[in-house]
Amino acid sequence: MTVAAKAAGKKAARPAVGLPSPQPGALLAWYDRHRRALPWRAPPGERGDAYRVWLSEVMLQQTTVKAVAPYYVRFLARWPDVRALAAAPVKEVLTTWAGLGYYARARNLHACARAVVERHGGEFPENEARLRALPGIGAYTAAAIAAIAFDAPATPVDGNIERVVARLHAVESALPAAKPEIVRLARALTPARRAGDFAQALMDLGATVCTPKNPACALCPWNDGCAGRRSGAAASYPRRAPKRDGALRRGAAFVARRADGFVLVRTRPSQGLLGGMTEVPTSAWSSDFDESAALKSAPRFGAPVSWRKLPGVVRHVFTHFPLELVVFAAEVPAHESAPAGARWLALADLSGEALPSLMRKVVAHAPGEGLRPRPSPRAAARAARRSV
Ligand code: SF4
Repeated sequence: MTVAAKAAGKKAARPAVGLPSPQPGALLAWYDRHRRALPWRAPPGERGDAYRVWLSEVMLQQTTVKAVAPYYVRFLARWPDVRALAAAPVKEVLTTWAGLGYYARARNLHACARAVVERHGGEFPENEARLRALPGIGAYTAAAIAAIAFDAPATPVDGNIERVVARLHAVESALPAAKPEIVRLARALTPARRAGDFAQALMDLGATVCTPKNPACALCPWNDGCAGRRSGAAASYPRRAPKRDGALRRGAAFVARRADGFVLVRTRPSQGLLGGMTEVPTSAWSSDFDESAALKSAPRFGAPVSWRKLPGVVRHVFTHFPLELVVFAAEVPAHESAPAGARWLALADLSGEALPSLMRKVVAHAPGEGLRPRPSPRAAARAARRSV
């Protein structure tokens, strides 16, 4: 048990005695041989460009490298630098982001680009504290930009790094309470030179060797100094507090299709869940959902329409709660006006809208040719995997 842990009365980290300390040089040598080639990564020996590092790190929050890569390439082709992104309409940014999830990130991305231009003349600050003052940049992203783009001795701790460090030191406290301890241990490992490469080396080690279920310890450059490996139960780290699932919420979605080929949509408020995204009208989502009460919130038109309940439900899981939507569909006469707060959208334009994954599922659930939005790249990749 470490002295600090004893003093704090906490569970011990790194209990194994006689283990050599993990050396940054060994990991950097491994990285020089095995680093991943990623679209946003600078060639060996060069520093990352701050705009590219920031863009990729924001996209990678809670999303996989595989899902992010095509979005990153698309964003960079469309907005090659921070000034171009700052000048773009936010709706275009949201539309290009659609399918990547966690849409607050897209709004913050745009707000941050504007702040970098307005406050810093289009150059990202090098200092972690000044980076953190920008919209959407938290401790992790600030440290990643400072280390990778500016080689500052900063220590970003993402899920991969958290896992490697928790195993290396056999951290017994459970996440999320263990996070400060893991960050402290990660900082103690960070070398003064090549901090950016070191951070990326930790990320790569976690992604390719120290993987969540089956760490390949035989291939690890730190295996002789790893307390988790010595314990014989490396994969059981990091410890986690049991998850409390959010209560199921339920609601109704209303797909109104006009006879001349338009579908009724509206834009969600810019703040909050799926802020600024396009949706078909829905009732409130609640755990005490009542279908007949929900029907009272269906869109109303000049002429009466008949809402048909479609079989089945649309399921979606947000970070904090699962959701089930029943879907009602109605055919509306051509040229009928849209109710207040909604608009008619040509079916052909649906795929160009900032339609979140939930709404893609709702629209795909509704009958009728043309009600098929372009699948998100993640959904397309899943479908391709299923078909082989
Ligand atoms: Fe992870 Fe195994 Fe390396 Fe320890 S030895 S850091 S558990 S891969």
